[in-house]
Amino acid sequence: MAPRPVETEAILEKLQEMYPDAKCALNHSNAFELLVATVLSAQCTDARVNIVTARIFPRYNRPEHFAELSVEEIGEMIRDCGLWRSKARSIQGLSRMLLEKHGGQVPSTMEELTQLPGVGRKTANVVLSNAFGIPAIAVDTHVLRVANRLGLADAKTPEETERQLMARIPRELWSPAHHWLIHHGRQVCHARNPQCSQCPLLPHCKFGQQGDKPAGRGTRPAGRRAKSAETARRAADR
Ligand code: SF4
Repeated sequence: MAPRPVETEAILEKLQEMYPDAKCALNHSNAFELLVATVLSAQCTDARVNIVTARIFPRYNRPEHFAELSVEEIGEMIRDCGLWRSKARSIQGLSRMLLEKHGGQVPSTMEELTQLPGVGRKTANVVLSNAFGIPAIAVDTHVLRVANRLGLADAKTPEETERQLMARIPRELWSPAHHWLIHHGRQVCHARNPQCSQCPLLPHCKFGQQGDKPAGRGTRPAGRRAKSAETARRAADR
């Protein structure tokens, strides 16, 4: 279904006004560090990831450092980020593949990035955008929710939301818009309690204007909502 008509330009202008300094919150100094940090950020806060990577990166920040370690050894370092076993497997696997296929360098195409273990479109888009300056929209759980509430997209999956946002937003704004939407999701448009009455986007937001919240995404009965939100979140966290 096509996105419903909205005042895209006005929304983007307002978001830019609200979050002029929005940028990637994961601390990193090169593409590999950002790749590892983004893998660690699945279902974990950026603040916690930054604490963990501040411990790790001074000693381990190249593929060859992780390729030699066991999953358990990597897991020990990243345990605080949760899901440590699968994240450790991903970090070990992607480090080995980078050495085997890419000369130890992080590739700069979606196709190559998503062939790395544990790297989905969201992670690839984060790396493309923030490490290589390639316009991209990484759809995480905040972008998925806020974009659909604002009517910038009308989609159930991160992939479809990404596609619709790219069609609707000028290419040069893809990367900043991604950061604006994340910041808005974290600061105002919360999953459970969006602060609609204080939201500068309220005049442009149909979802926010319907006080009792319309039936639809995010407003289903609790059981279905929990299952649906979990499904979308897992997809967006990949
Ligand atoms: S008005 Fe409410 S639902 Fe709409 S963007 Fe603002 S906080 Fe989110």
